[in-house]
Amino acid sequence: MRRFNSVTVDQEAHTAVIGAGGRLGNIALALYDQGKQAISHGTCPGVGVSGLTLHGGYGMSSRLHGLTLDQLVSVTVVLHNSTVVTASPTSNPDLFWALRGAGAAFGIVTDFKFKTFDAPESNLVFSYNLSPSNTSQLANILTVLQNFTIHDQPPELNMRMFLPNQLTGVYYGNRSAFDTIMNPLLTKLNIPLEGRGAGTVSTKKWIDTLTSFSNGPLPQPEIYDYHENFYAKSLMPEYLSPAAMTALADYYFTTARNIRGRSWYLLIDMHGGSGSAISKVPADETSYSHRNAVFKMQFNDRIFPDSATYTPKMMEFLNGWVDAIEKASEGEQFGMYINYADTNLTKADAHSRYWGEHYERLVGIKGVYDPQKVFEGPQLVGS
Ligand SMILES: Cc1cc2nc3c(=O)[nH]c(=O)nc-3n(C[C@H](O)[C@H](O)[C@H](O)COP(=O)(O)OP(=O)(O)OC[C@H]3O[C@@H](n4cnc5c(N)ncnc54)[C@H](O)[C@@H]3O)c2cc1C
Repeated sequence: MRRFNSVTVDQEAHTAVIGAGGRLGNIALALYDQGKQAISHGTCPGVGVSGLTLHGGYGMSSRLHGLTLDQLVSVTVVLHNSTVVTASPTSNPDLFWALRGAGAAFGIVTDFKFKTFDAPESNLVFSYNLSPSNTSQLANILTVLQNFTIHDQPPELNMRMFLPNQLTGVYYGNRSAFDTIMNPLLTKLNIPLEGRGAGTVSTKKWIDTLTSFSNGPLPQPEIYDYHENFYAKSLMPEYLSPAAMTALADYYFTTARNIRGRSWYLLIDMHGGSGSAISKVPADETSYSHRNAVFKMQFNDRIFPDSATYTPKMMEFLNGWVDAIEKASEGEQFGMYINYADTNLTKADAHSRYWGEHYERLVGIKGVYDPQKVFEGPQLVGS
């Protein structure tokens, strides 16, 4: 799909038609070049717009503008019998519902039409260091962040924590409003408001804001051949109990920080709560099934060199972390995000974790739009 990469903005209508083979960095630059427009999307510039949009799309403006799929106006899709259709609220609305959360199983998208917004040009990009030295301190930090996310975090504030010690994000507003919101939180987290250890806050324009979270330059080559060898998991909890927080933190101190020769991270995005645009969309409006998740947790473990084999034994590390959290949650099974596909899940487990109560309706729509199961994948709807 790489040549389906055009980006055409209608500045008056605040919409853009984006080819399905585009990558996020190039798309952000093209939108900006055409009237300083933007959409909400993931942080890494090499990620493709299609997989991201068809299954979610969370990034550093999602609390204000929603997921990438929430900005969709319509989609052009090639169906199993080669017919080309439009999916939108008025044209094939059931297909449009399915494409916004489970899209890979229904056809080949050729372009997306998105609502756009004016790129904000004065944004506060921040980074703070935390220093938990034991299980209870780390569990306390996570509990403070969870309470803040559920009750107090406004849409303009997008934030994430890399365990155990980095809190970063962006605020779309002015410094005094930022201080009013953040200072009470920083105090609870034992982060000094000024002087040594006070963290950094800098004002950035839109493209620089994106670049702050992109791990490299935004422009991407058309022939993209970059690979990593990793295993990933996710959890989308609506709430983590005190016991679950303790289990999460304990696993870090007893197991994760002793892992050698690998590069792992646990990234916790503050996804939901009363102030998040994602949670404001009714649960059944799209097939994305994690509207009420407070955190989006991505567990990632990478080995080197990239030609090495990631063995089943190695999977025990991240599987053990997720098991420890769920066992402490009275055996609760949380949702998981298909965009961090977990190859270790059975089909049935994948279907229920990725799509929850939406799964049966998705199977029905699959039967209508792809009865012969042309669009197959190990964990996709109907597999
Ligand atoms: C480095 C990195 C950073 C990431 N950061 C984020 C992030 O910040 N936020 C976030 O939400 N996610 C993030 N992700 C996850 C990302 O959303 C998924 O990996 C996503 O599936 C990538 O989509 P793709 O089109 O590049 O991948 P692909 O592997 O090409 O596609 C993924 C799935 O979508 C299907 N698909 C692809 N194109 C089409 C099409 N045109 N029509 C129909 N189906 C199609 C494929 O068949 C496949 O099932 C990140 C991933 C990586 C590797």
